[in-house]
Order: sequence, then C-alpha cells, then structure tokens
Amino acid sequence: MPGDRRNETVLILGGTREAADLARQLVADRPDARIITSLAGRTREPAPLEGEVRTGGFGGAPGLARFIEYQGVTQLIDATHPFARQISANAAEAARLTGVPFEVRTRNPWTKRPGDRWTDVKTLEEARDAIPSGARVLLALGSQHIRLFSSREDVHFVVRMIDRPEEPLSLPDHSLVLGRPGDSAAVETMLLLAYSVTHIVCRNSGGKAAYAKIEAARQLGLPVIMVERTA
Ligand code: NAP
Repeated sequence: MPGDRRNETVLILGGTREAADLARQLVADRPDARIITSLAGRTREPAPLEGEVRTGGFGGAPGLARFIEYQGVTQLIDATHPFARQISANAAEAARLTGVPFEVRTRNPWTKRPGDRWTDVKTLEEARDAIPSGARVLLALGSQHIRLFSSREDVHFVVRMIDRPEEPLSLPDHSLVLGRPGDSAAVETMLLLAYSVTHIVCRNSGGKAAYAKIEAARQLGLPVIMVERTA
C-alpha cells in the first residue's frame, strides 16, 4: 500500500518454486520489510505464497517502473522462469529507469549425467522436427507452446497442465493429464509408464521442481529432446 511506513519493500518477480522459497525466506528473515511477489496470473489457483501477492502484467517496463515508484520498492528481484524472457528484459529496463537495486536469481541449467540420452536442440521448432514418427511424447512445455506441435499428426502427445485449457488442444492425437509435475522420479516414472511415453520434449529450465521427469527418463533409458538456453 502506498504510504506504508516500513522502510524496505522488496518486489520479487515470481511464478517459480524458487521465487516462492525466496518469499518465504525473506518474510522470515526481514520481519520489518514488505515482501511482494508478482505473478503474471497464468495459473488459476497458484500455490499459496508468503507475504503480499499482486497479479497481472504491469504494462511493460514503463508500467513496472511506475509500480516501483508508486509502491516505494527498495529492491527488485527477478526470480522468474529462465525462459520468461520478456519480463526479465522489462525488469532490467525498469531498474535502469528507476535506479532501484536489482538482482537476478536465475537457476542454473541442468547438465547431462551418465545415462542421460539427450538430443540438444536450439529452438522449439528444432525440437518438433527431431521427434521420430510414431513416438509417444511427454510434451513438458507451457500451454502457449503446444500449438507449434500440431503439424505432427504422426505423433501421440501427452500434455500435462495445471488448469484445464479453455479450448481443446490443437494437437491431433494427444492425452491430457491435469495436475502439477510430480516431485519425485518415482511419480514421474509412473506417468511415463502409464502413457507408454517413448520421448520427452522439454526446455532446459533447471531447478529441482522440474528435474524429476529427467531423472525418471534416465532411469527408464528414455530419450529427451532438450531445448537449450540461449544467451
Ligand atoms: P514473459 O513472456 O517473459 O512475459 C510476458 C508478459 O507477462 C510480460 O511482459 C508481463 O506483462 C507479464 N509477466 C510475466 N511474468 C510476470 C510476473 N511475474 N509478474 C507480472 N507480470 C508478468 O513470461 P512467460 O514466459 O509468459 O511467463 C509468465 C510467468 O510464468 C513468469 O512469471 C514466469 O516466471 C512463470 N513461468 C514461466 C514458465 C515458462 O516456461 N516461460 C514456466 C514456469 C513459470 P507486462 O509487460 O504487461 O508487465
């Protein structure tokens, strides 16, 4: 709230497990500070967060800069997903415009371990084209990227989503699984086996939360088509 008398106001750009952990830690460590997490609003029922939460776009870098000034933000932390490029660019620009201290907390990418069978690709288009005909693919991507794969009529896709999509998926042949990613390799193995998955397509987002499926793929000897991070 404007006019809040606390000296410190930390704005965390979130939407990730790491941002939620950070909010919890800051609320515990800095009881005199206002800790605000910002969410884009893509998930209908986001997991509960410690501290304050605000939801929805700011209106680009200028909108974020206005928010920072109006709310008296004293520290800005970008803890968004490593593939959420626009908000990170906006955060850097808003920090430049306002001069607010700015920190980026990006997860390290996963690195290949013995037993991993990864095909590294640079783009989602390359990932789509690398899927062999007849494959059954766990498409572990955000809903906005699913449409790109609709030309692969020769592939069965398994799509997991937190919320039921408002419109039917544009994929010709698919199974829809509603729920959050499993947090252990054992849970992910059950999914992969239940749907007879032969390949996984995902992006190298790093972090613990999404790693369970990579571990499960290694244990089952399944190939992973991995979209690399670009600089
Ligand atoms: P994006 O393409 O970088 O952002 C698009 C627009 O969404 C931004 O310009 C901004 O709108 C708004 N936005 C994004 N993150 C926001 C936040 N934390 N708070 C307020 N507004 C936000 O982002 P995205 O890839 O769609 O991801 C959206 C959110 O989901 C991010 O917060 C990210 O951490 C989370 N997430 C993304 C992925 C992924 O694979 N990309 C995976 C897991 C979680 P305005 O310009 O209007 O401010």
